[in-house]
Amino acid sequence: MEQQEQEGTGNNNECLVCRVTYSIYSNFPPMPSAMALNVETDEFFPQDVLLSYSTGHQMAAALGYSWACNCRGRKALAALTAKDRIHDEQYTLKDADGRVMRDTYYTVRLPSGALVHGITDKLGRTKRYRTSGAQSIYIYLGHTQEA
Ligand SMILES: [Zn+2]
Repeated sequence: MEQQEQEGTGNNNECLVCRVTYSIYSNFPPMPSAMALNVETDEFFPQDVLLSYSTGHQMAAALGYSWACNCRGRKALAALTAKDRIHDEQYTLKDADGRVMRDTYYTVRLPSGALVHGITDKLGRTKRYRTSGAQSIYIYLGHTQEA
């Protein structure tokens, strides 16, 4: 059902979702310890992997909302507001190769700004954290005092 995927052809052919995604993340500085969240699978992966993508569409796919994308013949503009719900979630940390990161120190920055330390379990899972939106929680590797 997909047409051709043209990589690295710039933003002009991308929909608003993809262009906004690209404009946000293409300006992020490299942060080796920062993790990005795939909201579809609740899995965190290295943010630097996200930043390595050359199109907003690839970024949106990695973040788990490419289904909101409208630039490949898809329709789904309501998507981005679907996260306005209470989440009581636990997350899985994966490295750049997709392997789960077990027994790994991490720091969660909650929507309140509070930093909470934890260690993943044998399956790479964090503790459960309650948020009001999937986008409002951040995870960093290590136990940091500021994030
Ligand atoms: Zn798009």
